[in-house]
Amino acid sequence: SALTAISQQNPTCNALVHVASESHLLSQAAEATERYRSGTPRALEGIPVAIKDNFVTSDMPTTCASAVLGGYCSPFDATAVRLLREAGAIVVGKANMDEFGMGSFNTNSAHGAAVQPGGEGRVAGGSSGGSAVAVKTGMALAAIGSDTGGSVRLPAAYCGVVGLKPSYGSISRFGLVPYANSLDTVGVLANNVADAALLHDILSHPDPNDMTCLPAPPTTKRNPRRPLTIGVPAEYNQAQLDPAVRETWSRALTAFEAAGADVVPVHLPSTVPALAAYYVLAPAEAASNLAKYDGVRYGKPRDAFGDEVVRRVLVGTFALSAGAHESYYIHAQRLRRQVVGEFTAAFTEVDAMVCPAALTAQAPTIDEVKHPKSGDSAYVTDVFTVPASLAGLPAVVVPAWDGVGLQVLGKWGDAAMVLDVAERLE
Ligand code: GLN
Repeated sequence: SALTAISQQNPTCNALVHVASESHLLSQAAEATERYRSGTPRALEGIPVAIKDNFVTSDMPTTCASAVLGGYCSPFDATAVRLLREAGAIVVGKANMDEFGMGSFNTNSAHGAAVQPGGEGRVAGGSSGGSAVAVKTGMALAAIGSDTGGSVRLPAAYCGVVGLKPSYGSISRFGLVPYANSLDTVGVLANNVADAALLHDILSHPDPNDMTCLPAPPTTKRNPRRPLTIGVPAEYNQAQLDPAVRETWSRALTAFEAAGADVVPVHLPSTVPALAAYYVLAPAEAASNLAKYDGVRYGKPRDAFGDEVVRRVLVGTFALSAGAHESYYIHAQRLRRQVVGEFTAAFTEVDAMVCPAALTAQAPTIDEVKHPKSGDSAYVTDVFTVPASLAGLPAVVVPAWDGVGLQVLGKWGDAAMVLDVAERLE
């Protein structure tokens, strides 16, 4: 059924940029069937999964949706890919994305944009748009993406699937091509919270190849503490917020109250400045990371980078330059500490926070992305996802009852809590 979905939907959705050979997939499926027959299936036996194209894979090219890496093949599998395969998953293909993870709409791809099914030309969201659409259309039952500033959560919100960004350090980044190392996390996209939790537990595994990967990562064991206290960050109630999102948000809070939870306001005053800090820090780290694509160590000549990547490298290089780093890079790092401090204070009062994931309930069309209304910056789209990234916190986006994506934020290490709270919104 995954192969049927791929042949029917991929030509229009452009979710997968490389598909494994049919005979290879069918022989793996036959092996999986054997394991079920003999009563020895592993946790993900025979489950088709899609891999964002910035995770290296030994049997398929890895391009990060960049012409610079056109045709590049890695000699090894990323740890996350290896763990999925060891659990019995079948990798159907590599998923479309914004070039090197830089974007919010999956329109910055050398392979062309990934779009949602349905023919309206709505973008998949970015940067893990191909992964979200692969899950939405049944090309895969789950997918992995990377979330640096919202790249798993925004496409999940736009496409109506579950998107989990774990705590920083709980899943190995070994073999994930870095965008901004201090922010990059391996995220999961799935049809429901239970599936996301299963993949999270399989992937949260120590890895000596990633020194930021925890020796004993948190698992999703359920937290018995009751009644729940749900925080509502007032700063997320932005004037530009789509009324449809505000309505789903308030319906969710009412439902939590009705179920016996305490729902209390919390304050995160640095929410908006956090966006500016992110767009200094992420390009600064990216500028350093991308220096290796110099046409000698990796890649083709530099002019093969897309416009957005060039912009980030220039911004990042400037932010790190001798004359500017105090007022940009250092200032942004201070703001990052402030964001962490505000979350830490708020989480002494609450178990989790429930808030929007995106400013609008629906994704824009390709045309709207290409011709934004004057004054609109694409970067504003990330205002609700970036703070958790700066603080390294776990966050999950779940399509609430009416399909509008809501976000649940938790304490560092407490994926169990965010998944538990998210499940109540399904
Ligand atoms: N949209 C954000 C950016 O372009 C986040 C991307 C991501 O998480 N990879 O940087």
